[in-house]
This record gives sequence, C-alpha cells and structure tokens, in this order.
Amino acid sequence: MSIPNLTAFGFDADYQAIFDTAYRYARDELYDLGKRMDDEDWFPEAEFRQLAAQGLLGVTVPAEYGGAGLDVLAQCLIAEAVAYWNHSLAAGMLASDNLCLHNLVRNADEDQKRRYLPGFCDGSLIGALGMTEPGAGSDALGSMATTARRDGDSYVLNGRKLFITNGPVADVLLVYAKTDVAKRQHGISAFIVEKTFPGFSVAQKLDKMGWRGSPTGELVFDDCRVPVANRVGEENRGNVVMMSGLDIERVIAAFFHIGLAQRALDLALDYATQRKQFGRAIGDFQLIQGMLSDMYTELEAARALTYQVGREIMDLPEGEGGRGAVHKRSAAAFLAAGRMCMRVLDRAVQIHGGMGFMRETEVNRLYRSGKVGEIAAGSNEIRQVIIAGELLKGAAG
Ligand SMILES: Cc1cc2nc3c(=O)[nH]c(=O)nc-3n(C[C@H](O)[C@H](O)[C@H](O)COP(=O)(O)OP(=O)(O)OC[C@H]3O[C@@H](n4cnc5c(N)ncnc54)[C@H](O)[C@@H]3O)c2cc1C
Repeated sequence: MSIPNLTAFGFDADYQAIFDTAYRYARDELYDLGKRMDDEDWFPEAEFRQLAAQGLLGVTVPAEYGGAGLDVLAQCLIAEAVAYWNHSLAAGMLASDNLCLHNLVRNADEDQKRRYLPGFCDGSLIGALGMTEPGAGSDALGSMATTARRDGDSYVLNGRKLFITNGPVADVLLVYAKTDVAKRQHGISAFIVEKTFPGFSVAQKLDKMGWRGSPTGELVFDDCRVPVANRVGEENRGNVVMMSGLDIERVIAAFFHIGLAQRALDLALDYATQRKQFGRAIGDFQLIQGMLSDMYTELEAARALTYQVGREIMDLPEGEGGRGAVHKRSAAAFLAAGRMCMRVLDRAVQIHGGMGFMRETEVNRLYRSGKVGEIAAGSNEIRQVIIAGELLKGAAG
C-alpha cells in the first residue's frame, strides 16, 4: 500500500507527517519482527527505546515532561500506521502510551507527572492499565473486587487483575481499586503501582490465539502497599478517570483496527493478482472481485466514521467523557471498526484459500488477532448498550 493521503480526509500536513514517520519506521524496522513475535510469543522489549527515539512515544505528553505536546489524534494515527505493519507491537504501544500514560497526562498531579512522564517518553518505562478482573469484565466498575484500604501514608491493595496487556512486562501500572465498597462504582480510586512495590506480582503470562508477542497477564495484589502520593485524582473519583479514558481508548482502538484491516485488504489484493487457477489470476473472477469491493467499501465507511470521531475527541477536556455524545460516538466508531475488521479478515482468509488457514501466513496471524477487536475495551454488546443508552436518553430528554 502506498501511504494514504490524509489531507483528503481533512487532516493537515502535520498529521500526514506524523503518520508517514510512524508508517516508514514500522515498515522498515517492525514488520520483520512480527513472525517471531507470533511464533514464539516473543516481546521485543528493547523496541520501546527505539520507538521513543523516533518520537513515536509520549506524543501527547507536554514538552516540559519530555513529550511532543501533540493531541490524541496524533497518537491515533501512529496506532493505525504501526498496526498496519506490526499489530502486536502496536497493541503494546497502545496499552502503555494511551491506556496508562495518556490517562496520567490527563489526570495525574504535578508531582506524579514529574516522576513518571519523562520515563515513558524516553522508552525506559513501559505501562499497563489494570481494570478487568476474573469476576469483573463488562461490569468492570460494579463487580470490581480489588480493594484499597487507607493505612497512614499508604493504601493497601488486595485483589487480582486479569487479561492485562503489558502486565507481565510493565514497570508502571495504572490500577483501579475500591476505596469504598459500599459506594460500588462511586467508591473506586485510581493508583500508580510500580512493579517493585511489595505485594505486587504477576501470577501468569496468558497464552493467546492472537496478539501474540503482546504479553497479557494476570496480576496479584497481596497487601500491596501504594503511597497515598500515588493515588491519581481524588479518592472515590476513579470512575471519572476510567470512563473518560475508555472513550479515548475506544477511538484509538478503532484507528488500530483500520490499520489492521487495510493490511488484510492489501494482502488479499496481492494474492488475488498472483494466485492463478483455471489459467487466470483469481482476481479475474467476479466473485473474488465482489469480496474485494465489499472489503474496500466497508473499510472506507468505518474509516470515515473513525477519523471523524478522532477529530471530535482530540480536545476532550480533562474529566470529560463517559457520557453524552463522546461516549456514544466513540463506542460507535469502535463498534463499526471492530466488526468491519473481522469481516474484512474473514474474506481475506477466504481469498487466500488453504494458505489462509495455514498458521504461518501473515493473513492467518491477522485473522487470529482481529477477534479481540470485538471483545476488549468493552465488547461489541457493551458498545451497543452504550450507544442505545445514549440514544434513548436523548429521545426521552
Ligand atoms: C487480549 C486482551 C487484552 C486485554 N487488555 C486489557 C487491559 O490492558 N486492561 C484491562 O483492564 N482489560 C483488558 N482486557 C479485558 C477486556 O477489556 C475484557 O475482556 C472485556 O471487557 C470483556 O470482559 P470479559 O472478558 O470478562 O467478558 P464478560 O464480561 O464475561 O462477557 C462475556 C460475554 O457476555 C456479554 N455481555 C456481558 N454483559 C452484557 C450485557 N449487559 N449485555 C449484553 N451482553 C453482555 C459480552 O459482550 C460477552 O460477549 C483485555 C482482554 C483481552 C482479550
């Protein structure tokens, strides 16, 4: 694929330059890592330093803390470009740079920013976000069982977190825990946990069908002591941090799946022109052409919505999100992009025939990874619940 012309979508030259930098670096340096990452579930940790050196990490961090001071739309475009060439590494970047770091940029106090942000920007710190638990997935807030009890200058955390991207390798984790169980979702606080804090451990690295090479783990907090100075935001206001962060996460995840789907379409186009049956390239057959045209059309429709919502969230004020138009539209963008990606991947494998079913092929790797786009960061059904909830509120009001 040639580099897409983002100015045709109304983005200015600065965004195009950011996309181009990420795209070229990912093509030249990250693409070749993908197969080993998948085969061996290998995480190329040293890449974070290289990504930082290229200016691809910490882009939303203000310059005074070592970042580029750009908006979240720049981070979205980097996610799309990197996901095109190496989606597993893009997943690790997304968890560190957006789910953890960008939430700190938006919600941490001055002291916390000075202590943590520079390390993320130079690639010496890898981050993760710990929300999901064994008993708290879609109902992450209401069913959360991890607790944080105040004890002098510390909180004492007890509980488990499950399916945490970067969990096994993260230096710094943004973790949610209940500080007031009786208040349910209104009794949650957010904490910065360092991997060296006593009582923190990684129970296991999980074995996944896709996103291999992006380490996902189960984490344990066993009387884990966290200084009060590491609470992010006010006590019992963690839901505000979480919900606005989730809206942004869904939009960046939509960009990620645009990149993944574009890669699948390009692989299918290549195969359709090279593979010959009945004496002709299979791309000459109208049934194959029908699949290619549907893939393109659905991808472009999801891209248009995703890019538009990307523009809408780029200046989301601190503490905003988790309700209203941004909540509905970020869920809609990810619902459209996640579903589209899986449909595009299904047809891409179909066009590859038996080769598409072989684990060694790139299209097979993409197919196995695409499914998570319909599950994580709020499943398709939760996105539908959000959209319908906001629509009905609007209809009633
Ligand atoms: C690879 C991967 C990486 C992840 N990374 C992270 C991470 O970094 N940090 C983190 O905190 N979490 C992470 N997650 C967790 C992810 O966000 C959850 O898996 C997701 O929210 C769904 O929760 P669950 O798996 O417990 O499914 P469940 O909530 O048990 O849902 C099971 C099924 O029931 C459906 N369902 C549930 N409630 C409703 C409802 N009200 N109406 C209709 N259907 C419903 C769901 O849509 C789903 O189909 C990751 C997950 C994966 C697979």
